Amino acid sequence: MARVAIRGCEDYEYGAVKEALGGALAAIGGLEQIKDGSKVIIKANLVSMAKPDDAVTTHPALLCALVELLKEKHCTVIIGDSPGGLYNAAHLDRVYSATGMKDAVAKGAELNRDFSHAETRFDGAAVAKVFEYTSYLDGADHIINFCKLKTHGMMAMSCAVKNMFGVVPGVFKPEYHYKYPNYEDFANMLIDLNEYFKPSLCIVDAVVGMEGNGPTMGEPRRIGALLASRDPYALDVCCAHLIGLKSEDVPTVVESHRRGLTPMNVSEIDVDGDVERFVVPDYKILPTKSSLQFGKGSNKFLNFISPIADRCLRSRPILKEDVCIGCGKCASICPAKAITMKSSKANQKGLAPRIKKSVCISCFCCQEFCPVGALKVHRPIIARIINRTSRAKKSKE
Ligand code: SF4
Ligand code: SF4
Repeated sequence: MARVAIRGCEDYEYGAVKEALGGALAAIGGLEQIKDGSKVIIKANLVSMAKPDDAVTTHPALLCALVELLKEKHCTVIIGDSPGGLYNAAHLDRVYSATGMKDAVAKGAELNRDFSHAETRFDGAAVAKVFEYTSYLDGADHIINFCKLKTHGMMAMSCAVKNMFGVVPGVFKPEYHYKYPNYEDFANMLIDLNEYFKPSLCIVDAVVGMEGNGPTMGEPRRIGALLASRDPYALDVCCAHLIGLKSEDVPTVVESHRRGLTPMNVSEIDVDGDVERFVVPDYKILPTKSSLQFGKGSNKFLNFISPIADRCLRSRPILKEDVCIGCGKCASICPAKAITMKSSKANQKGLAPRIKKSVCISCFCCQEFCPVGALKVHRPIIARIINRTSRAKKSKE
């Protein structure tokens, strides 16, 4: 297990950002492994056409600081990502422009313009033995995973491990949700991607994270930290702790622990810096179903009725009809075809989505890509009660 470094960074003022990033990377020997003149690909989080202040994407000031450090080593630096939806020049140009990537270009980075993709086999995978990936990653001497710390409807948290889902071309993403509808399988698919691409470095923009209805429509929340590690799993354990998520509530942490890739507890991780100083106790996290731990042996009765209970108690998207603009994006993106547009008096288009619960796989693609935040993550009250009870029991044990 590699060391995790955490440094304070109050805001995105460039001097502060450079100092924090330099300090964190020095603590883990992050740049020493990168030879002069290497080709480095920075896999940022550029999930949508959001402005830097929206806290949806990796902040350009941090990317600029990293590019500058890599340029001092005469590296070729390419920044890329494949957001949901089309993976082509027209869409990515809009994303690059909105997210402030021109600043990184001014520092000497290139923005990826190779929109081809390829299929690969990974015999060592737990679930994703064959998968599609963005070809610009081929030929990189190093991949740097530069993510943003955010809440996430399906995976509870979007951080280092989840960020690697951006290697799957956007148009294929709904298919992957459909292929891995179970949270454990989806988490293992994400871990497989991390194991296949093995980023040399993972860095987390937790200066301002996203809380509430993440990963695209939540609110910015200052955390004031920057973290780096060569180990995405240990890094995620630390980040979950920062925002008050229990490790057992984060499917990628649970599954990476099950695969022997990380301890569950932050106290077992070699951290350079004081994590506790940056914990935000009232961070608005999202309800997930994973903490119920069905089938994992905590409660025999629940294990027995697990499949039914899972259906009844899992979190689902819920519509705020007064916010919906009737655009139909949720229906077109839903991998399970659980959404149909029905007439509604709530907006000018006269349309609103209806979600068929029996078909919904709780992937939260609709919630992630709704342009106005009209879909929220809803957890049934009974699920909340069971979860509270099981947590109380665990803390007594
Ligand atoms: S309705 Fe939403 S959460 Fe349910 S399957 Fe469709 S996109 Fe996923
Ligand atoms: S994507 Fe959002 S705004 Fe558009 S129809 Fe669906 S819920 Fe309404």
